[in-house]
Amino acid sequence: MTTAVVVGSGPNGLAAATALARAGVDVTVLEAAAEIGGGTRSSEAILPGLLHDHCSAFHPMAAGSPFLRELGLERYGLEWRWPEIDCVHPLDNGDAGVLHTSLERTAEGLGADGPRWRVLFRPSETFDDWSSDIMGPLVRLPEHPLRMARFGAPTLLPASLLARVFRTERARALFGGVAAHAFRPLHLPLTSAIGVGIITAGHRYGWPVAAGGSRSITAAMAALLADLGGKIETGVRVSAASDLPPADITVFDLAPGAVADILGDRLPPGVARSYRRFRHGPGAFKADFAVAGGVPWTNPDARRAGTVHLGGEYREIAATEREIHAGRMPERPFVLVGQQYLADPARSAGDVHPVWTYAHVPHGYTGDATEAIVAQIERFAPGFRERIVGTAVRSATGFAAYNPNYVGGDIITGSKDVRQLVFGPRIGLDPYATGVPGVYVCSAATPPGPGAHGMCGAHAAARALRDLRRGDGRVAA
Ligand SMILES: Cc1cc2nc3c(=O)[nH]c(=O)nc-3n(C[C@H](O)[C@H](O)[C@H](O)COP(=O)(O)OP(=O)(O)OC[C@H]3O[C@@H](n4cnc5c(N)ncnc54)[C@H](O)[C@@H]3O)c2cc1C
Repeated sequence: MTTAVVVGSGPNGLAAATALARAGVDVTVLEAAAEIGGGTRSSEAILPGLLHDHCSAFHPMAAGSPFLRELGLERYGLEWRWPEIDCVHPLDNGDAGVLHTSLERTAEGLGADGPRWRVLFRPSETFDDWSSDIMGPLVRLPEHPLRMARFGAPTLLPASLLARVFRTERARALFGGVAAHAFRPLHLPLTSAIGVGIITAGHRYGWPVAAGGSRSITAAMAALLADLGGKIETGVRVSAASDLPPADITVFDLAPGAVADILGDRLPPGVARSYRRFRHGPGAFKADFAVAGGVPWTNPDARRAGTVHLGGEYREIAATEREIHAGRMPERPFVLVGQQYLADPARSAGDVHPVWTYAHVPHGYTGDATEAIVAQIERFAPGFRERIVGTAVRSATGFAAYNPNYVGGDIITGSKDVRQLVFGPRIGLDPYATGVPGVYVCSAATPPGPGAHGMCGAHAAARALRDLRRGDGRVAA
């Protein structure tokens, strides 16, 4: 029987493992942490009964993932729940950009910019037909070239240029806040891509949370894997090639630098060089709060929204993203706030609610951004501070210790500059192959990039199975 080892049990590692097991391969997953899940773990971090997501929280990309949908994970307990409003971007004058799942409703709320928003995100109406094109390697012939061209043209632009399409601050800031998920200075090419992708998927699938925490996504994948005969071993850190059991296929759900360290001189020198030069972007500083009565937002829509983006006007977001990229901590960083409990009330304990936040900070930032996060929330929700009954933080360097894939606190596993967004860890036609027969990379460093969608894992596994059938992949690492 063909055997495979997958290193790392994040959503991509488990997607690769599941895809291989479905093809009849005997799969073992090795996970360094005591718990599976990578960026999908959740726990009662502050008070008993109050459930916090450690990392990922909102899942337009997972709900829209062609691979996860194919797995039928609802049979294993995965249930999506939607907040009333997907995302709100409040402004200092009390106004706000409001993102609904409905394209029509969002456009109506954007007044003069409604027609432009409608035209830009109309591809969401046919998202299911062509999503496999954007959720895979970009360097290949798309299956739906015309639809891809229609969706893809605006994504080539710097977000700053695309934002100029809008005349109102409401629409400009709403778009800018989502574009900032790329952790890139917004005047650079292709910085629209991640934002346009998230908004388009969101207009089809909304921004749901997983009932019982994001951990339910990987718990469901692990249960399916067990049914398929796969095994998972936790508490096993792979540090060198000698730690790997012999296998026909080895798949790394790791950052490229870690793969280079583990494989050493087994990697072709050119690939080793690319993996070692792989660039990581700015970091995240996370603060979870237990909040009595929830956040007292001035804007009423923010009280009903799963996600609230705090950065003020577009210009301010663009400036802070430039600062963190240059290694300087802004006084008022871009902050994301998650109120998952609005969609999944069982995460709260009575009237005390778990509030998830993180700030964009420079790469490797060692400072404490808690006060900056609280101040940003106070700016749009005066009185928030008095409602905090407990806090748990994870710094940028803390993220790197928590999960080695988050080098310097880079929670999206690699800077999404033009080269790395298009090609992944190295320039070539196959972003998943390491150049060592039978050995592949499947982490969020590979296309289509970050998110709990599992598509990187699914593509890496498909590539491994193709090589195996052709007879050029049957070599153990
Ligand atoms: C604060 C934060 C907020 C986020 N918000 C969202 C969101 O709302 N929506 C969304 O879709 N995405 C979000 N993300 C991103 C998302 O979590 C990641 O893109 C996703 O988890 C990547 O999956 P992965 O399988 O590639 O890697 P990971 O999830 O990082 O998993 C890698 C696994 O490998 C293990 N590992 C590492 N080194 C070794 C080793 N040497 N040996 C064995 N095991 C090892 C790690 O412990 C980990 O379990 C967020 C991330 C963070 C941190």
